[in-house]
Amino acid sequence: MAATSDSNVTAHSAKPHIGHTQLSICQLNVAIGQKTVLRDINVQFKSGAVTALLGPNGAGKSTLLKVLCQEISTPRQHIRLGHRQLTDWPRAELAKSLAVLPQHASLTFPFTVSEVVAMGLYPLTISKKSGEILVANQLAAVGLTSLKNRSYPTLSGGEKQRVQLARVLTQLSQSPFAPILLLDEPTSALDLAQQHKVLELARGLAHQQGYTVIVVLHDLNQAARYSDQLIVLKQGRIVTEGIPAQALSVDTIRQVWDYEPIYVPAPQGGHPLIF
Ligand code: ADP
Ligand code: MG
Repeated sequence: MAATSDSNVTAHSAKPHIGHTQLSICQLNVAIGQKTVLRDINVQFKSGAVTALLGPNGAGKSTLLKVLCQEISTPRQHIRLGHRQLTDWPRAELAKSLAVLPQHASLTFPFTVSEVVAMGLYPLTISKKSGEILVANQLAAVGLTSLKNRSYPTLSGGEKQRVQLARVLTQLSQSPFAPILLLDEPTSALDLAQQHKVLELARGLAHQQGYTVIVVLHDLNQAARYSDQLIVLKQGRIVTEGIPAQALSVDTIRQVWDYEPIYVPAPQGGHPLIF
């Protein structure tokens, strides 16, 4: 491993964006078996912003993230990252700059918490000492320093979810430019306070360090509060997108979720409240 100075391993704040709209999808259709799971997807994700992906179960949210992290392959010309087609990025380079926290991460071998987070070092080329500092920083960021020597399989679901987040953040922390962070239901196993902490962390990475954050959420109020842009999917299509106060209308909620909400309009400068 090549040695780098430890001062290189902390923040991205000075790193350039690779374009104002660095990640975009154009005319994407995805079929799995006989079923079309995503249709006519055209969207641009802004760097320095949080985009929330919303929609009922089966809408295609996870599939969209899998396409972006190339777990599902797509024809060459449909997704662009910075100055290149996504498929043209060398895989090792892409791994430093684009990472996903999957909806389900199964790991039963008794690795310690630190060892799991250190798996995020894999695509990196830094010294052992720098790697240890990175792992410690990311464990602190998710509030798990005290559990660093615990066996991962013994953790609660919410603790495991935060360990996986620390692993993913470790993976991105050596990106040469502000990276892309994909989060698939990152709050699903977390208690209320931890949900807000993780979403605040994600928002901070976007607003302060220029990350492009794309997060699948089910809680409409959290999506409105923490995201800059909303994309609502239903049956594989984008139904609406825009800033939260506009994209989450009563009509949209009725149409997409088949649910009659109690809707408290946004107070001045705030977000609507939806129950
Ligand atoms: P969401 O994350 O919005 O709940 P997904 O993207 O996981 O939805 O799934 C979208 C649709 O695609 C669902 O109907 C799901 O059953 C189907 N699907 C996803 N992956 C597969 C697969 N590997 N085989 C068959 N169907 C799949
Ligand atoms: Mg999903």
